[in-house]
Amino acid sequence: MGHRREFEIPFVGLKPGIHEYSYQVTDRFFESFGPQDFTGVNAQVKVSLDRKSSFMMLKFEIGGNLVVSCDRCGNDLPLDLWDEFRVTVKMVEEPELMNDQEEDPDVYYIGRNESHIDVAAWIYEFVNLSIPMQKTCAPGSSGGDGCNPAAMDILKKMEVKDQEPSSNPIWKDLEKFRDLEKE
Ligand SMILES: [Zn+2]
Repeated sequence: MGHRREFEIPFVGLKPGIHEYSYQVTDRFFESFGPQDFTGVNAQVKVSLDRKSSFMMLKFEIGGNLVVSCDRCGNDLPLDLWDEFRVTVKMVEEPELMNDQEEDPDVYYIGRNESHIDVAAWIYEFVNLSIPMQKTCAPGSSGGDGCNPAAMDILKKMEVKDQEPSSNPIWKDLEKFRDLEKE
Protein backbone atom coordinates (compact mmCIF):
# COMPACT_ATOMS: atom_id res chain seq x y z
CA MET A 1 0.00 0.00 0.00
CA GLY A 2 3.02 2.28 -0.50
CA HIS A 3 2.86 5.54 1.40
CA ARG A 4 0.28 4.08 3.80
CA ARG A 5 3.11 2.40 5.70
CA GLU A 6 3.53 5.54 7.73
CA PHE A 7 0.06 4.93 9.18
CA GLU A 8 0.93 1.50 10.49
CA ILE A 9 1.97 1.54 14.12
CA PRO A 10 4.19 -1.37 15.13
CA PHE A 11 2.90 -2.16 18.59
CA VAL A 12 4.69 -5.40 19.32
CA GLY A 13 7.46 -4.59 21.76
CA LEU A 14 5.88 -1.32 22.90
CA LYS A 15 6.21 -0.92 26.64
CA PRO A 16 2.97 -0.65 28.62
CA GLY A 17 1.88 2.98 28.85
CA ILE A 18 1.20 5.84 26.51
CA HIS A 19 2.95 6.30 23.17
CA GLU A 20 2.28 9.27 20.94
CA TYR A 21 2.28 9.58 17.18
CA SER A 22 1.46 12.54 15.03
CA TYR A 23 0.38 12.74 11.43
CA GLN A 24 0.12 15.59 8.99
CA VAL A 25 -2.78 14.95 6.64
CA THR A 26 -3.45 16.77 3.35
CA ASP A 27 -5.71 16.28 0.29
CA ARG A 28 -3.28 13.63 -0.95
CA PHE A 29 -4.18 11.36 1.98
CA PHE A 30 -7.84 11.35 0.90
CA GLU A 31 -7.19 10.58 -2.79
CA SER A 32 -7.22 6.81 -2.28
CA PHE A 33 -10.60 7.07 -0.51
CA GLY A 34 -12.28 8.52 -3.62
CA PRO A 35 -13.80 11.95 -4.24
CA GLN A 36 -14.40 14.04 -1.13
CA ASP A 37 -16.66 17.03 -0.58
CA PHE A 38 -13.85 19.06 0.94
CA THR A 39 -10.46 20.36 -0.19
CA GLY A 40 -7.49 22.27 1.15
CA VAL A 41 -6.96 19.84 3.99
CA ASN A 42 -4.29 20.81 6.47
CA ALA A 43 -5.01 18.55 9.40
CA GLN A 44 -2.91 17.42 12.31
CA VAL A 45 -3.85 14.15 13.91
CA LYS A 46 -2.33 13.20 17.23
CA VAL A 47 -2.71 9.56 18.17
CA SER A 48 -2.08 8.50 21.76
CA LEU A 49 -1.76 4.75 22.14
CA ASP A 50 -2.12 3.39 25.64
CA ARG A 51 -0.63 -0.08 25.58
CA LYS A 52 -2.13 -2.58 28.01
CA SER A 53 -1.40 -6.30 28.18
CA SER A 54 -4.31 -7.60 26.09
CA PHE A 55 -5.68 -4.42 24.56
CA MET A 56 -4.80 -0.87 23.52
CA MET A 57 -6.67 2.36 23.94
CA LEU A 58 -6.27 4.81 21.08
CA LYS A 59 -7.16 8.46 21.31
CA PHE A 60 -7.30 10.52 18.10
CA GLU A 61 -7.10 14.28 18.41
CA ILE A 62 -8.07 16.00 15.16
CA GLY A 63 -6.90 19.57 14.56
CA GLY A 64 -6.17 21.90 11.66
CA ASN A 65 -8.50 23.05 8.92
CA LEU A 66 -10.04 22.35 5.53
CA VAL A 67 -12.43 23.96 3.06
CA VAL A 68 -16.01 22.81 2.40
CA SER A 69 -18.76 24.31 0.21
CA CYS A 70 -21.72 26.16 1.69
CA ASP A 71 -24.86 23.96 1.45
CA ARG A 72 -26.87 26.96 0.23
CA CYS A 73 -24.70 29.05 -2.10
CA GLY A 74 -21.70 26.83 -2.78
CA ASN A 75 -19.15 29.39 -1.61
CA ASP A 76 -15.91 28.11 -0.13
CA LEU A 77 -16.24 27.80 3.60
CA PRO A 78 -13.06 27.38 5.65
CA LEU A 79 -13.57 25.17 8.69
CA ASP A 80 -11.43 24.63 11.77
CA LEU A 81 -11.22 21.03 12.84
CA TRP A 82 -11.25 20.27 16.51
CA ASP A 83 -12.45 16.95 17.81
CA GLU A 84 -11.43 13.88 19.74
CA PHE A 85 -12.25 10.19 19.25
CA ARG A 86 -11.39 7.00 21.11
CA VAL A 87 -11.06 3.41 19.99
CA THR A 88 -10.32 0.32 22.07
CA VAL A 89 -8.37 -2.33 20.18
CA LYS A 90 -8.50 -5.83 21.65
CA MET A 91 -6.22 -8.71 20.71
CA VAL A 92 -8.23 -11.91 20.31
CA GLU A 93 -8.14 -15.33 18.62
CA GLU A 94 -10.93 -14.70 16.09
CA PRO A 95 -10.91 -11.02 15.23
CA GLU A 96 -13.17 -11.24 12.16
CA LEU A 97 -15.90 -13.08 14.02
CA MET A 98 -15.62 -10.69 16.96
CA ASN A 99 -15.74 -7.62 14.71
CA ASP A 100 -18.90 -9.00 13.07
CA GLN A 101 -20.60 -9.47 16.42
CA GLU A 102 -19.42 -6.29 18.12
CA GLU A 103 -22.06 -3.57 18.25
CA ASP A 104 -19.92 -0.90 19.88
CA PRO A 105 -18.31 1.09 17.01
CA ASP A 106 -15.53 2.16 19.37
CA VAL A 107 -14.28 -1.39 19.90
CA TYR A 108 -12.16 -3.15 17.31
CA TYR A 109 -10.51 -6.57 17.34
CA ILE A 110 -7.24 -7.71 15.84
CA GLY A 111 -5.57 -11.10 15.84
CA ARG A 112 -3.06 -12.00 18.53
CA ASN A 113 -0.45 -12.62 15.85
CA GLU A 114 -0.72 -9.08 14.40
CA SER A 115 2.28 -6.83 14.79
CA HIS A 116 1.02 -3.55 13.32
CA ILE A 117 -2.13 -1.55 13.60
CA ASP A 118 -3.20 0.57 10.63
CA VAL A 119 -4.75 3.88 11.70
CA ALA A 120 -5.36 5.33 8.20
CA ALA A 121 -9.04 4.29 8.01
CA TRP A 122 -9.72 5.78 11.46
CA ILE A 123 -8.01 9.03 10.54
CA TYR A 124 -10.16 9.17 7.41
CA GLU A 125 -13.35 8.47 9.35
CA PHE A 126 -12.59 10.84 12.22
CA VAL A 127 -11.64 13.78 9.99
CA ASN A 128 -15.00 13.26 8.25
CA LEU A 129 -16.83 13.06 11.57
CA SER A 130 -15.20 16.34 12.62
CA ILE A 131 -17.05 18.15 9.83
CA PRO A 132 -20.50 19.42 10.84
CA MET A 133 -23.52 17.94 8.99
CA GLN A 134 -24.84 21.36 8.06
CA LYS A 135 -22.33 23.69 6.48
CA THR A 136 -23.63 27.17 5.78
CA CYS A 137 -22.19 30.67 5.65
CA ALA A 138 -22.31 32.56 8.93
CA PRO A 139 -25.16 35.13 9.03
CA GLY A 140 -24.02 38.52 7.74
CA SER A 141 -23.78 41.51 10.07
CA SER A 142 -26.49 43.29 8.04
CA GLY A 143 -29.00 40.55 8.91
CA GLY A 144 -28.68 38.53 5.68
CA ASP A 145 -27.89 34.85 5.60
CA GLY A 146 -24.25 35.58 4.76
CA CYS A 147 -24.45 33.65 1.51
CA ASN A 148 -23.02 34.88 -1.76
CA PRO A 149 -25.92 36.95 -3.23
CA ALA A 150 -24.71 36.50 -6.82
CA ALA A 151 -24.65 32.73 -6.47
CA MET A 152 -28.10 32.71 -4.85
CA ASP A 153 -29.50 34.82 -7.73
CA ILE A 154 -28.10 32.43 -10.31
CA LEU A 155 -29.49 29.42 -8.44
CA LYS A 156 -32.95 31.00 -8.32
CA LYS A 157 -32.91 31.83 -12.05
CA MET A 158 -31.75 28.32 -12.92
CA GLU A 159 -34.57 26.91 -10.86
CA VAL A 160 -37.20 28.97 -12.72
CA LYS A 161 -35.86 27.65 -16.03
CA ASP A 162 -35.76 24.10 -14.85
CA GLN A 163 -39.20 23.33 -13.46
CA GLU A 164 -38.50 19.63 -13.29
CA PRO A 165 -38.18 18.38 -9.76
CA SER A 166 -34.57 17.59 -9.10
CA SER A 167 -33.03 15.21 -6.66
CA ASN A 168 -30.06 17.49 -6.24
CA PRO A 169 -30.00 18.23 -2.48
CA ILE A 170 -29.16 21.88 -3.12
CA TRP A 171 -32.68 22.42 -4.53
CA LYS A 172 -34.28 20.89 -1.48
CA ASP A 173 -32.20 23.16 0.69
CA LEU A 174 -33.29 26.17 -1.33
CA GLU A 175 -36.92 25.12 -0.91
CA LYS A 176 -36.50 24.75 2.81
CA PHE A 177 -34.81 28.11 2.89
CA ARG A 178 -37.71 29.77 1.04
CA ASP A 179 -40.27 28.07 3.26
CA LEU A 180 -38.50 29.52 6.26
CA GLU A 181 -38.67 32.97 4.72
CA LYS A 182 -42.43 32.67 4.18
CA GLU A 183 -43.10 31.89 7.81
ZN1 LIG B 1 -23.48 30.37 1.62
